[in-house]
Amino acid sequence: MLVLGIESSCDETGAAIVKDGRYLLSNVVASQIEIHNRYGGVVPEVASRQQLATIIPVVETALEQGGCTWADIDAVAATYGPGLAGSLLVGLTVGKTLALACNLPFLGVNHLEAHIYANWLRKDVAPQKVEDWRYQEGDPVFPLLCLVVSGAHSELVLVPEHGHYELLGRTRDDAAGEAFDKVARILGLGYPGGPAIQQAAQDAEAELQQQGKPLKLARNAYRLPRAWLRGTYDFSFSGLKTAMLHLAEGAVESQHRKQVSQYTRMGELAAQHGLPNVSLLAASFQEAAVDVLAVKTRLAAQEYQVKQVVLAGGVAANASLRARLEQELSPLHIRLNYPPIEFCTDNAAMIAGAAFFHLCRDERHGLDLDVQPGLSLPFVKREKSYA
Ligand code: ATP
Ligand code: MG
Ligand code: FE
Repeated sequence: MLVLGIESSCDETGAAIVKDGRYLLSNVVASQIEIHNRYGGVVPEVASRQQLATIIPVVETALEQGGCTWADIDAVAATYGPGLAGSLLVGLTVGKTLALACNLPFLGVNHLEAHIYANWLRKDVAPQKVEDWRYQEGDPVFPLLCLVVSGAHSELVLVPEHGHYELLGRTRDDAAGEAFDKVARILGLGYPGGPAIQQAAQDAEAELQQQGKPLKLARNAYRLPRAWLRGTYDFSFSGLKTAMLHLAEGAVESQHRKQVSQYTRMGELAAQHGLPNVSLLAASFQEAAVDVLAVKTRLAAQEYQVKQVVLAGGVAANASLRARLEQELSPLHIRLNYPPIEFCTDNAAMIAGAAFFHLCRDERHGLDLDVQPGLSLPFVKREKSYA
């Protein structure tokens, strides 16, 4: 089954053709990073205008690169939420219109579910026919635990089978990606913040390594708070963000006097090693964020005895998070999967991929489907033990 997927929930315009939920024929993404970088973040009105300007060429390119004509396509899918209303409206309207014009089934896709299904995408050549839509050799194995860490969401989700989601924990304030973006802004590293922080942290580590010093020195240069919220699988990143703000401004409150000496010492340490404070700050922040994400994910994976952990969303692209989780899970013989980097951040391949698994269950949407900017995963309560 060939699905044309369309993604327009935020500042990326994407169209892709995916066979049987896994095999890529084409994946086109037009990013607005350059434009929003000027404002230090996404400007909704600008984003939707850009969506409108790029969507048709992007869809045409996806067909062309996939070597397809409309006659080859079996269904059209588009994101209907969550995201920015104006941006969502563009992709959803184009998707519904194309389905109507080409007389094809239409399916609206939940963007968060699509982030999870990015784990099913692969780059190998498609077999003639997929015998069982539910499982192909190499697919993630249920029951699985998914750490969704994107620009607007941070959730630990138990997935016992296709389309079944149980919420174990979520952020109480900022999302992980949002924290990376805000901290990057505080440090003057630009937008989007995730890749910039990762790069700055890598620079700090490379520098220390060259001097024959341990990486730990960079990662623990600043003592930063970690919100463990014990007894829950919830996250909180606002304290960490505030600590970064105080550090960056050098405005440390007097009740943190004990830490002041620590910061000063580290400031000196940075100067000693010829490192800009910013790289050390970035490395310490990344370590603090990754620490909590990885440990809580490992604890949940143990409690629910899952066969597999998968990462989803833009922050899943983070090399430090990937490596740290591997370290946490491999002694427990729990497999870890994460999508290739280009499928972690917003793309339409994951939309077409997720749609396939719904279409196989005979699900369709009417053309009256509207955008749902605040959409969440369709969570259900726990019914039984999957151990
Ligand atoms: P949502 O999916 O929750 O609606 P979104 O679509 O805006 O939000 P994504 O596209 O999934 O979010 O991810 C973007 C986020 O991922 C940004 O916050 C960005 O900083 C972060 N990110 C991207 N690459 C990295 C990286 N290497 N390390 C850390 N964060 C990263
Ligand atoms: Mg984006
Ligand atoms: Fe996203």
